[in-house]
Amino acid sequence: MSETKEIIYLTFPPDVSNQPVVCNLARVYDLSFNILRARISPKQEGQMTLEIIGDRKKCREGLRYLKEQGVGITPVAQKIRRVEDSCVHCGLCTALCPTKALRVDLNSREVLFLREKCSACGLCTSLCPVQAMVLETENGIWEAITEGA
Ligand code: SF4
Ligand code: SF4
Repeated sequence: MSETKEIIYLTFPPDVSNQPVVCNLARVYDLSFNILRARISPKQEGQMTLEIIGDRKKCREGLRYLKEQGVGITPVAQKIRRVEDSCVHCGLCTALCPTKALRVDLNSREVLFLREKCSACGLCTSLCPVQAMVLETENGIWEAITEGA
């Protein structure tokens, strides 16, 4: 059995938002998951950043199941981006970032964004006072996770 851990960004059409499709990943496909970030309301489009852990084959089957239910799936490796011109290097996000993807460079005193460490949890997008941390949607439009929340 080959284990995998993936972080994915999901979008739920309104008619799927109130269905237990994510719970079925555990119940039917024996996968573990952590919800890193979610914005789901009944009868409205929902968004979720999800970490799934389990057998690679089961993982593929689980993702296929989500797709069949109409859920949009995007790997999050490149989902969070910093708008470099907007960042004022205030450092607020460095205290919050759970993976230390945002940290202060001790020489320059600037805040570095280490994309490869980012889990796309989205916490920094809520916190950043100048909206420098943004989520890239599937169609390429930049959008803060918190917009419209
Ligand atoms: S909170 Fe925003 S402006 Fe402040 S350092 Fe982080 S990304 Fe830059
Ligand atoms: S989304 Fe922001 S807070 Fe979350 S891991 Fe990435 S840089 Fe850190």
